[in-house]
Amino acid sequence: MYMRIIVAIDGPAGAGKSTIAKRVGEKFNLMYINTGSMYRAVTLKALEKDIHHSNMDKLCRLVDTMDMYFQNNELILNGENINDKLTLPYISNNVSNYASIKEVRHRLVAIQREMAEKYDVIMDGRDIGTVVLKDAPFKFFLTASPEERARRRYEELKLKKLDVNYENILDEIKKRDYIDCNRETDPLTKAEDAIEIDSTNMNIEEVVEKICSYIRNKINN
Ligand code: C5P
Repeated sequence: MYMRIIVAIDGPAGAGKSTIAKRVGEKFNLMYINTGSMYRAVTLKALEKDIHHSNMDKLCRLVDTMDMYFQNNELILNGENINDKLTLPYISNNVSNYASIKEVRHRLVAIQREMAEKYDVIMDGRDIGTVVLKDAPFKFFLTASPEERARRRYEELKLKKLDVNYENILDEIKKRDYIDCNRETDPLTKAEDAIEIDSTNMNIEEVVEKICSYIRNKINN
């Protein structure tokens, strides 16, 4: 029997979701959809146009003008590759406020579902296993301690030659966790049927192998 491979990966900021999702995606030939980058793109454009997250009407109109798709693991917005800007600290510091807006979420979730209807995907985010792809046959919930997640983010940003401070990153990650876990619409939570992996003491390869072997076993049985 042919089983569609649709993989949902959720977890808090800095748990390693995108690195791991890309690797697993390559092994099974899946399109990688980074939903966080879609919320970040909305934040980038809203801040450029000075639209506050409380201004629902303007925000909805803005999202409706945004054409988004993924190519080579990267988000293309209205024909432009904007990925370099999406991980800048001022976007990270604001994104959870924009991602809390129900109307924004509904629009982005609709686009994400459409992508999963067309392609075999591996999608990461906060609400993939619980909301976006509730029926996905493969669901994982990736965690790590806040300190370890902050350390990874710090190394990543330092490599990009950005001027960063570990304590500020830890603080930002904790704030983001709080907003993401406590918002009214689709908060971050583990789906009942998701497999939880705590990667605090695991390296990337170990996590990738754990996920891949789980998928292989399920496909072959
Ligand atoms: O995954 P990443 O850290 O890039 O996500 C940025 C932010 O976007 C998260 O902190 C969260 O506020 C929001 N997000 C979300 N739902 C998703 C993906 C991301 O609310 N599915």
